[in-house]
Amino acid sequence: MLPYKTVAEAATALGRPLTTLEAIWLNYSADKSDYFLYCHNILFLFLIFSVAPLPLIFLELKLSDSVQPFKIQPKVKLSSSEIFRCYKSVMKMFFLVVGPLQLVSYPSIKMIGIRTSLPLPSGWEIAMQLLVYFLIEDYTNYWIHRFLHCKWGYEKIHRVHHEYMAPIGFAAPYAHWAEILILGIPSFLGPAIVPGHMITFWLWIALRQIEAIDTHSGYDIPWSPTKYIPFYGGADHHDYHHYVGGLSHSNFASVFTYCDYIYGTDKGYRYHKKLLGKSRWLKAVVPMYRPR
Ligand SMILES: [Zn+2]
Ligand SMILES: [Zn+2]
Repeated sequence: MLPYKTVAEAATALGRPLTTLEAIWLNYSADKSDYFLYCHNILFLFLIFSVAPLPLIFLELKLSDSVQPFKIQPKVKLSSSEIFRCYKSVMKMFFLVVGPLQLVSYPSIKMIGIRTSLPLPSGWEIAMQLLVYFLIEDYTNYWIHRFLHCKWGYEKIHRVHHEYMAPIGFAAPYAHWAEILILGIPSFLGPAIVPGHMITFWLWIALRQIEAIDTHSGYDIPWSPTKYIPFYGGADHHDYHHYVGGLSHSNFASVFTYCDYIYGTDKGYRYHKKLLGKSRWLKAVVPMYRPR
């Protein structure tokens, strides 16, 4: 809870007028506890899990011909009832694991020093912290995910996430409860090492899940803005991991491609892309050879 109640009190404490965003933050958060502000993540996650996958799911169900060229595994088509079954399972885990985890993890957030106070961080500071969080998460997640592909980890835990060989957006958080808990560690590590403001923390949790839904969407859209993010794996990279399934020793990273490149776990993927490229080239060239 902020130590001042009015804009004038806050301006006196800061020694300068508040920016518009700081005044909005003060008006919103002044009478709310830090715990309540932290628990906003439960609502954000519920909305993201429920709404973010909808546009592509809607296009697939209603306008499948127009989006077909961008579908990574075009032969796989889930019915609306199969898609709804996936969403129901995700919501069950959300109410039994994700939500309660948020409710009880507040002391750790307080301990690492996530602040709700003024001044607000600059846009640059938020962007830099988010970049660090993504890099730390990507590296840690790579190794935990790789461990989950050992015989024991796969059979006991990770197999659930791989039930979808051609993933859809709703399947991004579809996992065994133990995996949800374990993969909370990489997400928590960045803010623990470089603690920031609660707004940065909200953005981190939201963007990480939106990114996961994007990489599980099953579509590789050529004009997606994510194509401009250096080393971003995207749907094509992670889809291959699901396509190969339990035997997969390819594409473990959650966000970027460089870990798989450095540790040589993208060889199968690169070979697959090479073959795909060749078959597309043949399809384009062979019709030109017409017998005289
Ligand atoms: Zn996996
Ligand atoms: Zn996945």
